[in-house]
Amino acid sequence: MVGLRPVGILALQGDVREHRAVLEAIGHEVVSVKTPLDLEKVSAVVLPGGESTAISLLLKSSGLLGPLRNRIAEGMPTFGTCAGLVLLARSILDGRADQVQLDGIDAVVRRNGFGRQRFSFETSAQGASTLAGETLPAVFIRAPLIESVGDDVEVLATIERDGGNTPVLIRQGSVLAGSFHPELTADRRCHELFSAMVEQGTAQSTL
Ligand code: GLN
Repeated sequence: MVGLRPVGILALQGDVREHRAVLEAIGHEVVSVKTPLDLEKVSAVVLPGGESTAISLLLKSSGLLGPLRNRIAEGMPTFGTCAGLVLLARSILDGRADQVQLDGIDAVVRRNGFGRQRFSFETSAQGASTLAGETLPAVFIRAPLIESVGDDVEVLATIERDGGNTPVLIRQGSVLAGSFHPELTADRRCHELFSAMVEQGTAQSTL
């Protein structure tokens, strides 16, 4: 039997282990990506939660920044959670001046945007039709707030906030990103969605 494609995890800082466990549980071999050479070995990558400013510094010092940005622009399936979303966003509000951007998804994201009282919370997100309209558990930890998305971005899940619906899981072509941490709950659907993108290996995949 031919196995699923190997998936890389950016392993500079953050909750690498948790993502690895979910990806392995659904059948992917997982490669830690710490150098440009590691990146060459993978055809997809996960950007974990953690601290986007710390990951930014390490992306620069490891030499990964340019190669990773190029691979994402070329359509490599990429999944960012929380800090990973911050790194992928086209525009970061309340970021640090020296933090890097990978320009992976047309979204405006406010770092730590849920406010002081709500640094960490768990709620139920409402999935769009891609997720069969079902809800999914969503853990937020000092999470970025997705303030707006471009026309080419599909909103896959939202939560209610201030009387409106705030996107929490979004996708544009080969890039999937969430402001919460699906790797911290037993619900594997976000990773399964990403796995389907990886197996299709194309920016045009429809799910
Ligand atoms: N607040 C963090 C950042 O700015 C993200 C937090 C997380 O990934 N849990 O990168």
